[in-house]
Amino acid sequence: MANMNDLKDLLKHDIDDIYSAEEQILEALPAMISKSQNELLKKALEDHLKVTEEQKNRLDRVKNLLMEGEEQNKSNKGFLSGLFSGTHKCKAMAGIIDEGQKVMSEDMDAEVMDAAIIGCAQKVEHYEITSYGTARAYADELGLNEVASLLETTLDEEYDADDRLTELAVGTINKKAESGSGKMRRSASRESSRSEGNKENKRSNSNAKKTSNAERSAPQKKAAPKKSAPKKAAKKAAPKKASPKKAASKKAAKKSAKAGG
Ligand code: ZN
Ligand code: FE
Ligand code: FE
Ligand code: FE
Repeated sequence: MANMNDLKDLLKHDIDDIYSAEEQILEALPAMISKSQNELLKKALEDHLKVTEEQKNRLDRVKNLLMEGEEQNKSNKGFLSGLFSGTHKCKAMAGIIDEGQKVMSEDMDAEVMDAAIIGCAQKVEHYEITSYGTARAYADELGLNEVASLLETTLDEEYDADDRLTELAVGTINKKAESGSGKMRRSASRESSRSEGNKENKRSNSNAKKTSNAERSAPQKKAAPKKSAPKKAAKKAAPKKASPKKAASKKAAKKSAKAGG
């Protein structure tokens, strides 16, 4: 695509990418919904499909806001004409969806299928969380408050969707998938060591609440927990924490402090 001379150009590029991702998600969700057996999972995905349609509209507003700002700057027109053309394809989302579709096309027990669908859906959500988190931080940095707030609204929705899927997975669906259709029998001894095994399992499982949930793993996550603190207050208190560079350098500083004693 066109040259990127500054952070705003990079933001526009990223909005193009997220837009493509959302379009691909809109296309992929219906098949995931129809393959879901668990009613709560079906409902969660149906709800997120509606939310995703709104998110696409929100991105149209973001694009308009970014274009408006550019209209005064005629020298950028050449760049703009090649921008938001809808030709950029997010290859990462294409890959995540392609992998998911391959898994879902396997001959699978319905309960295992539900677990697989959640796994795929959470990869999608995590990609969105990282993308919206980054874009929101850029918009913040650029002082594009309305853009930042639109992106943050969507970011919160992606977190909510991910949380809901984690609850379904860890709460019921992974357990059901564990025994499948009942063909697999667990021995008594394995049954008794289950709690131990589960601890291990939760550490590596992508939807294990404590470890994976993008709340903790996604970069550029708001510093304050969204549910306990009012959004605006949290943002005001720690606006710069969202930047990945700063987070990284902070980490590095911590590390070197540790190393240095
Ligand atoms: Zn590009
Ligand atoms: Fe989305
Ligand atoms: Fe992408
Ligand atoms: Fe999403």
